[in-house]
Formats: sequence, C-alpha cells, structure tokens
Amino acid sequence: MKHDAGVPRKQSVGEWVKTVIRQDEIDRYLDKGADFIDDEAIESDLARGKEAQAEEIRAIIRKAYNIKLMDARDVAALVQVTDPTLKEEVFRAAREIKTKVYDNRVVTFAPLYCGSKCVNACTYCGFRCDNEAVERRVLSMDEIEAEARVLATQIGHKRLVVVYGEHPETDADYIAESMRRIYSIKEKVRNGVGEIRRVNVNAAPLPIEGLRKLHEAGIGTYQVFQETYHRKTYEAVHPASTLKGNFHWRLYALHRAMDAGIDDVAVGALFGLADWKFEVMGLVAHARDLEKRFGLGPHTVSVPRLESAAGTDFSWVQHRVSDDDFRYLIACIRLAIPYAGLIVTNREKPEMLRSVIKMCTQRDADTRVGIGAYTEAFSASEQKEETQQFMLGDTRSLDEIIRELASMGHIVSFCTAGYRCGRTGKKIMDALESGREGCFCKLNAVLTFQEWLEDFASAETKKIGDDIIDREMAEIRARVPADYSEVLWDHLLKARQKILAGERDLYF
Ligand code: SAM
Ligand code: SF4
Repeated sequence: MKHDAGVPRKQSVGEWVKTVIRQDEIDRYLDKGADFIDDEAIESDLARGKEAQAEEIRAIIRKAYNIKLMDARDVAALVQVTDPTLKEEVFRAAREIKTKVYDNRVVTFAPLYCGSKCVNACTYCGFRCDNEAVERRVLSMDEIEAEARVLATQIGHKRLVVVYGEHPETDADYIAESMRRIYSIKEKVRNGVGEIRRVNVNAAPLPIEGLRKLHEAGIGTYQVFQETYHRKTYEAVHPASTLKGNFHWRLYALHRAMDAGIDDVAVGALFGLADWKFEVMGLVAHARDLEKRFGLGPHTVSVPRLESAAGTDFSWVQHRVSDDDFRYLIACIRLAIPYAGLIVTNREKPEMLRSVIKMCTQRDADTRVGIGAYTEAFSASEQKEETQQFMLGDTRSLDEIIRELASMGHIVSFCTAGYRCGRTGKKIMDALESGREGCFCKLNAVLTFQEWLEDFASAETKKIGDDIIDREMAEIRARVPADYSEVLWDHLLKARQKILAGERDLYF
C-alpha cells in the first residue's frame, strides 16, 4: 500500500488510538496474569546483593566469561559493588568479554528521525503531544529518501535506525514504506556505490499484524526501550490516558515481534528515570523471558541517558545517573548479558564515549536528530532545539569518529551480512556465545571498512584506516589454519583486491 504523510485519513486521531492496543496480544504472554518484572523479588535481591563478599563477586566475574545470561541474584550483587579495586576488576572483565565476543570491532550507524508527531505525553520527551516548543512535522517519502541519500552518499553510512513518534501518520504502513524507500537508494559515489544496507527501527510497540509488515519490508533490528522497568515510575512519567501508559503493551512489544517473525530485537532503558540498579535488573529479566519463550535473547541493549529537551522541565528527576555510575552500569550489563551488542549514542559527550567504547559494540556518528536535519544547510554542530527530541553531546563527523576509533585500535565494521544471509536470531546467538560468529565478522569488517575508506574517507583517515586493515590482515593470517582455512584466506585476499578495483558489497 502506498503511504504518504499529509494524506487525509478516514479515522480521527482519537479513533485510531482506540484501535492500537490488542488485549489478547498482552494476555497470551502473561503467566497466570503476572508479567516477568517481579518488583518485590528485584528489591529483595538488591538488598541481599549488598551483603556479597569480594570472593563472591570474583566468582560472578569468572562465570561471566562463559557468555551466558547472568542469574538475577548475581546481577544484584554485581551492581551493588562499591569497592574501587573490585569495580576495576569488573571493568577489566567487561573489556575482555567485549573483545572475546566482538573482538575490536565497533559498528557505526545514524538515526533518521522521520516524524515528531506523537499522541503520547512522556514527561521527559520533547515530542510529547502537549509540548508547544517543538515544531511538528512528518516527512514525506520523498523527504525520507532525500535524508537517507545524504547519509548513504555523502557520509557513507550503511546502517540506519529510523525513529518515529507514535501517530496515525507514522503507522506500520508508513514505517514499512519508508524502509522500502531507503533500501531503494543506490547512487554512484567516489569509487563505488552509496546505499543503506540495513534499516533498524525504533518505533512504538505495534500489534503483530503491523510487525509482520515491517518484517516483510526487511527490518534489521526492532528496538523498543521499556524506558523504565520500575512500575510506579513508569506510571508517573507516562500518563495512564495515553497509549504509552499501558506498561504491558510495551513490555511485550518484542515478544510480539518474535511472533511476527522478527527474530532480531533490542531492549533498552532510559537511565535517569528510576534507580539504575533496578533498571539493570529489569533489562536482564526481559532478556531472560525472551530466552525462555523464544530460545533467544535481545540482539542489542541500549543505554540512553536523560538529556535536556526544548520546553521540558526536568526538575522532577530524582535518579540522574552520574558519569561514574553510568560507566559502571555499562560494565555490569556487559557481564550480565554478555552475548548482546551494547549501543551508546551521541546523547553522550565525546569524553564519555571514549571512556566506554571498549565495553560497547555500536555507536552513532555524524548524527542529527532534528526532523529533516540531514538535508538542511546548517552545520552539524549547530543544533535546532525546536525540531529535536533532545539535545546531542557529540556532533562530530563519521570521518573524525572513525579516525579516533582507529587510533584507539578499533576497526569500524560496516558489515550488514548477518541478516542478509540468514545469520540472525538463534543462529547468530549460538555463534556469538561460541565465538564462531567473530571469525566471519572479522573478515567482513576488513572488507566493509576497506570499501568505506575507498569511497568516503579523508586522506588522513584513509592512512590510519589502511594501517588498521594491514594489522587485521596480519592477525587473520596468523590464525590460519587454526581458525581460518587457507582457502578462506585466499578468498579474503582476492575479495580485498576486488574492492580496491571497484567491486562492492562482498561478504562472507
Ligand atoms: N516513540 C517511540 C517510542 O517511544 O518508543 C520511538 C522512540 S523515541 C523517539 C526514542 C527513544 O528516545 C525513547 O524510547 C527514549 O528512550 C529516548 N528519549 C526520549 N526522551 C529523551 C530525552 N529527553 N533524553 C534522552 N533520550 C530520550
Ligand atoms: Fe512520543 Fe516516544 Fe517521545 Fe514518548 S518518547 S513522547 S512516545 S516520541
């Protein structure tokens, strides 16, 4: 079905709102009427966790290297650690586990905000319906294509997260159509082609019927952040009269996605709303319920931290997360859900991003969060508060960020092979837990990074990038025949040559 913003609809917004939530698509996941967030159990585990001795914490750290979801009681003990020496041991393990599962790779992406109209009234968000300080706009399909074209052909992104408010003008049909328009872009750039190969979606919880449409349109990851797992806080910041006021509809959004055939889902909590320790427990409980029902946990975990937003009062916030706690909670999640990718965003400042990236797997770059901002002529560092959901802490270019990451020893991977050749869901999780996926990813990182360097890098970044690739190649060569066969090594050499000669989109 064709869909465009601004098309008159038969239904009023009020009528549409009544059609969204399907009670039977909540009830089917409840266990004797109860959900998987047991507030009392979490509180009592957290209280008990304070008593954990250093030796227990060290045993928990050692267990984390098995790359399995951590027991709730162990998580509760880990988040309560205050001793600086023990914390340092947790940080070290977090860096090592990141390297064990994901090597030195970092994946970059850009968010693309498609609409700021929203029927909800989340007290912390610039897009809430009663906020007059923000201009409302929903991009037409042509505008979405123009935005994505800038990202694909001028910057060189291959992976986007498309973001939407919850509104009838940005319903499932609109989201699916916007994804198709983005995938349709293919344009000649310097030595190759500019295109978006993976579109992840961050949108409100949808019914199974709507999620099937996103599946058919080729969704990468479906992200829905619970915001807070703390029920009372959830009720306080999401008015009961709104769609988002339904805690259960949101809590089971990813379960519905799995049932709609999307086996790649992402959890997240908005840190600052409730006690961060409770949120970490909630994220792990969410991962456990997904594992229990579908044999598969979340592909990624996001850790947004509250930022200021136009026309928005934050004086009510009681649980702001300090920089030290933020770093530590990232380390705890790394150990607790060790197979999952961990996403940090440009809400944070460059210094913070630098200090946590060794524990994380993905970050955004060259980001603009205003509606239509990539095609506007102002510079990226100049933010327009009245068009944004919140303010950014890092507005540097992808080229600068890649140079910095390379100088820290990271290779930036533009690989999107996994879902395009069926390595998703259970297959990828098993491979990540066993370390097998890493072997393919290492090769694909080399090839896709080489592509980006040829097509988009500045001279300075190209030089540093080529050095990193040479180093990676040497490492791969040294792992033949233990991890890679001679044949595979030969394929890699040939594929790299082909890329240097202008061929694109080669992967294992
Ligand atoms: N409307 C959809 C929803 O609520 O799920 C789409 C996502 S919203 C545009 C993306 C995410 O931004 C939210 O899930 C929330 O975690 C985050 N967010 C909202 N307000 C924020 C703020 N003031 N600072 C930082 N992140 C914020
Ligand atoms: Fe709307 Fe999402 Fe913002 Fe809430 S967080 S007001 S649902 S855009």
